[in-house]
Amino acid sequence: MASKDYYSVLGVDKKASADEIKSAYRRLAKKYHPDVYATASEEEKKKAEAKFKEIQYAYDVLSDPQKRAAYDQYGSEDGPMGGGGSGFNPFGSGFQSSGGFGGFSDIFSDIFSAFSGGQTTSSGRQANVQRQGDDIELEMILTFKEACFGAKKEVSYSRIEKCPTCNGTGAKDASSIKTCTKCGGRGRVVVQQRTMLGVMQTERVCDMCGGTGKIIMDACPDCKGKGRVRKQRKVTINIPAGVDNGQMLTQSNEGNAGYNGGPNGNLILVFRVKPHPLFTRRGNDLMFDMPITVTQAVFGDTVEVPTLDKPVRMEIPAGTKNGTLFKLKGKGVKDLRRNAYGDILVTVKVDVPKNLSARQRNELRTYFDALDKNATYDDVERYKKKLKTLD
Ligand SMILES: [Zn+2]
Ligand SMILES: [Zn+2]
Repeated sequence: MASKDYYSVLGVDKKASADEIKSAYRRLAKKYHPDVYATASEEEKKKAEAKFKEIQYAYDVLSDPQKRAAYDQYGSEDGPMGGGGSGFNPFGSGFQSSGGFGGFSDIFSDIFSAFSGGQTTSSGRQANVQRQGDDIELEMILTFKEACFGAKKEVSYSRIEKCPTCNGTGAKDASSIKTCTKCGGRGRVVVQQRTMLGVMQTERVCDMCGGTGKIIMDACPDCKGKGRVRKQRKVTINIPAGVDNGQMLTQSNEGNAGYNGGPNGNLILVFRVKPHPLFTRRGNDLMFDMPITVTQAVFGDTVEVPTLDKPVRMEIPAGTKNGTLFKLKGKGVKDLRRNAYGDILVTVKVDVPKNLSARQRNELRTYFDALDKNATYDDVERYKKKLKTLD
């Protein structure tokens, strides 16, 4: 394979650690995974597939300390000779297990067994082992009220299910399932590889059967031999009262089908709550700023305050200052876990009249000048006293 810059393919620095490389790889591989493009156009699919392979290959080189060292030193993972295929196949059956995509299937199926049919896990573990299916994460948009009061909502999404036609075997019928000739049904083969340190013998997943130990002669027409099919599913979700933005709800068993008869993964809903025009939520409390007139502030008033259901009446005492906080107990959001409610916190904002007539201005001026001469403004008086203590 032509040597692209593997580091830039994965978007990592030349000094990146093994962990950084792995996480960059996982992120990109998820992004370009064929499952993601299941409903895309053919052209988009092809592009994504090419990108996906490029990422796989770059990871294959950079995740292997020997290959990485060779690549760093010689610009080729094959060392100073470069470019040559390094596959050596002791079985001579024409199935090259190394060279281009050596080690690829292990990494690949570790993360995306959904795609490859789920035959293997990471190299240390047994293929064919039962394993839980992958989780599916879905974002769910809620109105502010739905989040506060809870709701029943239907979601529609696509997931991988066991193919009902072949019952997950991937075969057209029972007689088309044969034991793999390459591994003799073991699912793993011994491979020799020439490396910089000499010939190494390793065991890896059989690439002929993908680790299942079985070969399917005639594939199931519905799933094309994968044993798994993508299906649209509808589920009704009971959203509890009190959920907030970013919180998650898990619906067990509603995710992708398990591997080799393992249980399904989960469906994980991530809530996105639309903002309220008035209230800002903080925990179970609702905050908002309520404008009042100077007259209301000076003389006091009874005002109506909106809540999540009916408006309630609130007393504003005479002489209420700007920024005064009023608490309406228990009028906030229900706690997600207990039968308790938050409060509504009202901050009063005193508005000042504009567009006064000349006469109004004169009358107010005379009146306020008289007021200012007395110690009627206690905050202003306190402030003046403090100023005097400064040097
Ligand atoms: Zn099938
Ligand atoms: Zn095999």
